[in-house]
Amino acid sequence: MIYDEEKIKYYLKNILSIPSPSGFTGKIMDYIKDELQILNVPYFFTNKGAIIATLKGKNDDYQRTFSAHVDTLGAMVKKINASGTLTIDPIGGYMMNSIEGENCVIETINGKTFTGTIQSIKPSVHIDGNDARELKRIAENMEVILDEKISSKQEVEKLGINVGDFICFDARTLFTEKGFVKSRHLDDKASVSILLYAIKYILDNNIELPYTTNIYISNYEEVGHGASSAIPPKTKEFISVDMGCPGPSQNSSEYSVCICAKDSSGPYDLEMRKKLTSLCIQENIDYKIDVYPHYGSDASAALRAGWDIKTALIGAGIFASHGYERTHMDSILATLHLIISYSILE
Ligand SMILES: [Zn+2]
Repeated sequence: MIYDEEKIKYYLKNILSIPSPSGFTGKIMDYIKDELQILNVPYFFTNKGAIIATLKGKNDDYQRTFSAHVDTLGAMVKKINASGTLTIDPIGGYMMNSIEGENCVIETINGKTFTGTIQSIKPSVHIDGNDARELKRIAENMEVILDEKISSKQEVEKLGINVGDFICFDARTLFTEKGFVKSRHLDDKASVSILLYAIKYILDNNIELPYTTNIYISNYEEVGHGASSAIPPKTKEFISVDMGCPGPSQNSSEYSVCICAKDSSGPYDLEMRKKLTSLCIQENIDYKIDVYPHYGSDASAALRAGWDIKTALIGAGIFASHGYERTHMDSILATLHLIISYSILE
């Protein structure tokens, strides 16, 4: 199969450039809606703001659903301090050191945006020496320094910034010559771009699907309840497309599709894993099976919510997950190939 890598990168770049922390996904969903309209594929919004597109297959009673989440980590203004800085409350689970020194955008409830930098409350070694180095990186010790000539709480309020405003981290997206993609939020925007492209590929090539196949773009995964609702009711197989986690003591890779056998929510469906693995062997797709002790997916959320579905979890290997992440186009293409191959599997 020949894939248009530039088109995948086009989707990925666009998706990464629109901030979308959980709870603040309206703009990114509008973008996805626009792309689905261009592809001329039917879709609908769930009440919770997720988007589900459907490709009709020969069998409409046995359906497959692929999901990916477009919401990301981020933060919210918790408190405006007397000095004019902002204390943050994290959205999603990450280490504070991974956002220290990062640029960010604060968007007010009226849509005004302001830039700033996330720093610790002791950001200079010339002032605090070892205290600055040893300060515990917890949310309470981090703050946003606004790029405004201000020094008081009143001045911040005058700008229109309030408790509850969203703080979006700079994704710092880079595509290197050797095929690496470096960015925040590759989890799970890499998968969203793969699924968008998979829809385009299936339609452009007039591929007939054996089963009606839904693409569910969820918007609350990072806070634990992404695909817990509104799964198309005839779904029998649910495949969460989310990252693999390469790193020391893990079997995952940045150059393969990663198939999760078990995560903190328990084992995924064995029959589905067997089918996915056999397809990789048959289609010569580089793959790795892995077990993640501190991970849960949209499939886990769906099972916990009580859906009677078989689940699997596959995805590109994302290094330094929930930090400044990295993957390789090899991993993205392997994941895409597996999704297409599974979609046409009778
Ligand atoms: Zn994820």
